Amino acid sequence: MTDCMDREGIARNVRRIRARIAEACRRAGRSPDEITLVAVSKTFPMAAIEAARQAGVRHFGENRVQELASKSKEAPGRTQGGDRTWHMIGHLQRNKARDVVRFADCFHALDSARLARALNERARTEERTVSCLAQVDISGEDSKFGVAPDELLPLLEAVVGCERIRVRGLMAIGSLRAEPDAIRGEFQRLRALFDAVPPRFAPNVSMEHLSMGMSRDFEAAIEEGATHVRIGSALFGERIAPEGGKGP
Ligand SMILES: *Cc1c(COP(=O)(O)O)cnc(C)c1O
Repeated sequence: MTDCMDREGIARNVRRIRARIAEACRRAGRSPDEITLVAVSKTFPMAAIEAARQAGVRHFGENRVQELASKSKEAPGRTQGGDRTWHMIGHLQRNKARDVVRFADCFHALDSARLARALNERARTEERTVSCLAQVDISGEDSKFGVAPDELLPLLEAVVGCERIRVRGLMAIGSLRAEPDAIRGEFQRLRALFDAVPPRFAPNVSMEHLSMGMSRDFEAAIEEGATHVRIGSALFGERIAPEGGKGP
């Protein structure tokens, strides 16, 4: 159990984050309507999620599929006819594909053709279509997850053969060690890749969403073109419980 903030604390943080999003948009000449705030609720209880929901948040992110499944059973997402959107933002093992197909409204961490094919198989069985983002490793640190930039087009090529997969954009995690200026450079690289995806993969692939930016760097991400920012600790407080060692 995590040391959870009270409802008012979460509501106040939602207002603060929205104000910072608006300010970053103003600097970048963008509209706040272009930005989706994904509240990263991993390790936090349903009470915290409901507090954010009452403060107007409609998008939630989880990085472990079991936790996503159990939370979305309590509070279903759009795919299940519910009133919120669940984003699976963490690495997925192929044998867990079914739960993503069932419970995630958007999967941010597609990073291999084999995973795309496993999701496609499952989606066929479940009679679903899966919205995904392709995760790119832009850190140059050879981190475990995400395709290297030069593997992106081959991945998208493979998705064209997966009739139930829709790749609607790209996702990246700024490297944890980098200085703010270096992280901004990473966001610029992801944006450049996003802009350079050729139209020939349509309709399975369309570049609409750019998921980048977390609590420490979301303003820079918005200035560099993010449409989805994934914010956990700045909304819900520090995570105390372990996260199974996966992801930041
Ligand atoms: C945990 C996590 C976040 C949120 O991180 P904070 O620093 O708490 O905002 C964003 N994206 C991914 C992929 C994560 O795993």
